[in-house]
Amino acid sequence: MDADTLEKYMKAGRIAAEAREFGISMIKDGALAYDVAEAIENYIREKGAKPAFPANLSVNHEAAHYTPLHDDKRRFRTGDLVKVDVGAHVDGYIGDTSRTIEVGSNRYFRLIRASEEGLNTAMDVIRAGVELDDVGASVEGVISSFGYRPIENLTGHLLENYRLHAGLSIPSVKGLERGTIKEGMAIAVEPFATDGAGYVKNAGNPGIYMILDENAKPRKEEQRDFFEAIVENFGGLPFAERWCHEIDRNAPKLLKQLSRRGYIHAYEVLADAKKGMVSQRENTMIVKKDGVIVTTEVE
Ligand code: MN
Ligand code: MN
Repeated sequence: MDADTLEKYMKAGRIAAEAREFGISMIKDGALAYDVAEAIENYIREKGAKPAFPANLSVNHEAAHYTPLHDDKRRFRTGDLVKVDVGAHVDGYIGDTSRTIEVGSNRYFRLIRASEEGLNTAMDVIRAGVELDDVGASVEGVISSFGYRPIENLTGHLLENYRLHAGLSIPSVKGLERGTIKEGMAIAVEPFATDGAGYVKNAGNPGIYMILDENAKPRKEEQRDFFEAIVENFGGLPFAERWCHEIDRNAPKLLKQLSRRGYIHAYEVLADAKKGMVSQRENTMIVKKDGVIVTTEVE
């Protein structure tokens, strides 16, 4: 990886981490999820980066992909277990990071620690040449030692320019992925821990979308104009229904129509299949010969 690319990854990672911490500082009993998400995304823009995806603020048994809708009234409450998952990019070079917090209580301290130690172990193990299966086995061993399950069908991923999920999956269990991590890769590693089933299912309520075919030509004029606007604004990165509502007041309807036609993908909220509580911790890192450079840690 050349110095210019590394610098962009470092900047994106730092801004994502700062935005994550800023969001966490806003999460209190009674705070609107909408306000927190918008503040995180505006923080990223003010610092000279762009959101790489909508701020995810999944709560309790939700593991991933909850972002507030344009008219969302959800508020955080004491005892909520919130996963603050934030992405920023600089010229397409992405930092993707999350932390889990508990609102005004301390019931899930060990569950939060389990994903934290899972990530720490992954960061210790990963270097050029390491087998994906060895990473998964290490993470699974640590999370199991806390008495919890890793979520097997949520994985880390390779990052490429303007591509959030670029092929390689980094597992949190053994026996699922084959392949090798190579020097110069940028990867996001994100163990999830749960006291539930250990796998997630779709739970409806999509607030995040992504364009599947930029060259699609919807035949109805209203759909076509809207589609051209979202291609122009978001390209191949995930985007929020919330953001689209500023482009067109009919966005909720148009997004449904476009996803039915297969032009865009709708990401449903993902929740533990047995409604267990879920924690997550994620860092982005650059793989070196003898270890990693983590881009998303702040002091
Ligand atoms: Mn993430
Ligand atoms: Mn990720």
